Amino acid sequence: MRPVDYPEPFRQLARQLRLLPGIGPRSAERIALWLTAAKDAKPIELAESLREAAEHLKPCSQCGFFATEELCEICRDETRQPEICVVENATDILPIERTGFFRGRYHVLGGRLAPLDNVGPEDLRIAELLKRIAEEIPTEIILALSADVEGEATTNYVAEILSGLQVKLTRIAHGLPAGGGLEHADPLTLQRALAGRNSLRV
Ligand SMILES: [Zn+2]
Repeated sequence: MRPVDYPEPFRQLARQLRLLPGIGPRSAERIALWLTAAKDAKPIELAESLREAAEHLKPCSQCGFFATEELCEICRDETRQPEICVVENATDILPIERTGFFRGRYHVLGGRLAPLDNVGPEDLRIAELLKRIAEEIPTEIILALSADVEGEATTNYVAEILSGLQVKLTRIAHGLPAGGGLEHADPLTLQRALAGRNSLRV
């Protein structure tokens, strides 16, 4: 006799949940149980939200940030300064926005050079960046990529490509975290903090 299992719709739901990052078989089953049996669960509303997000969210055709129209909110904002901050991923934009320190626009590369993972320059949105520079004539390009080896290689590569252009090219400083003492800093971080030092006299 075949052992009884959950009905197919339940198993299908659990299978879908298992596709989510960080969800194993037991968690998938637990969430499926909660969604289908708990008093507070709103499975139909959740399904609607998923459909809504999947249908209407798309990358901004200009910068790559999340958008619901052709251009994102940042690219449509005409009060933005003519500066472009280059980041690896769309999720890097909001942390910079939240500082309130930068009032320009962004450009998402869509990753970084990673030869071991077969990510080359043609996989990044570099041609789109060059096109934007020609059209928008920014006063400054800020490279805000990761401080690790691949991020560093990408920064150098993009800087090389842009070196012939008549535009101010800068990179964000990499240094010590706020609240971190020198004794806990690794040599590379300390080296970058020294390299990115600022004058105290203006
Ligand atoms: Zn945009």
